[in-house]
Amino acid sequence: MSPQMSDSSSKGVAIITGAAEGIGRGIALRLVSDGFDVAINDIAPKQAALDQLVSEITSKTSRRAIAVPGDVSKDGDVKGIVDKVVRELGGLDVMIANAGIAVNKPIAETTVDEWDRLFAVNVRGTFLCYKLAANAMIRQGRGGRIVGACSIAGKKGIAEAACYSSTKFAVRGLTQSAAQEYGKFGITVNAYAPGHIETQFLGRFDGYQANKKGLKPGEWTETLKSTVAVGKNGTPTEIASLVSYLVSKDAHFITGQSIIVDGGGLFD
Ligand code: NAD
Repeated sequence: MSPQMSDSSSKGVAIITGAAEGIGRGIALRLVSDGFDVAINDIAPKQAALDQLVSEITSKTSRRAIAVPGDVSKDGDVKGIVDKVVRELGGLDVMIANAGIAVNKPIAETTVDEWDRLFAVNVRGTFLCYKLAANAMIRQGRGGRIVGACSIAGKKGIAEAACYSSTKFAVRGLTQSAAQEYGKFGITVNAYAPGHIETQFLGRFDGYQANKKGLKPGEWTETLKSTVAVGKNGTPTEIASLVSYLVSKDAHFITGQSIIVDGGGLFD
């Protein structure tokens, strides 16, 4: 993607946040197989999983990988991550602002602290990742790709997750605004809007429903399959395929979009 690549065979340098597990981990592995050097982020308690992923990548491929722990809701942490990546990997071409959290609760039971924490991680975190990555990309002057994590909950509000839905609507708005500001620098800004992707995240939604309805673990997750056209839930691989395309040169004419990847549940 860039003329100043980190080595002759690298496609560039990517940061993936919230990548110790789930969708972020899947995206990191896909971008490595696409030829990117990667910096993988998650919160400090996930350091061991980050280290394991780094050694999995560096032992099996010729790509470079470093762990960049930190909390995306903190300005200083995100700045430190971007600076370290530019310094150690030689630049920044791709930012995947994937980290996100949810709370399953009716509005009546959602506390102000829960509301603020979700907005801090999902919205302020995405804003900081977009802003600081774009600053670095503009300084380099070779364009870039920024991708955020929206959700089908950012297209249609869902009951008992109002706070989460609100944060994902905000990510969609932020993505549209950022696309317009950064287009002139050759930077595209898009988001994926996943449906039901089988990760620990979905497992927590399952736990909530099991508790509420007296279901066995996994039973609610199973019912989701019949709600979409293809009749199955997704995996991180399906999200990673879209991201692989969005960060490619071929995707230069797509920007400001939050693209649904849900097996055909919502149509926009
Ligand atoms: P996950 O819970 O499996 O993994 C998320 C990772 O983000 C975790 O490793 C977690 O430690 C990390 N994280 C949390 N807070 C962080 C912070 N402040 N700073 C850095 N890292 C942090 O979730 P997932 O299913 O992989 O989801 C990834 C993204 O996709 C999220 O933004 C989520 O909202 C979105 N999404 C997921 C689904 C789904 O069905 N799994 C559907 C729609 C959208």
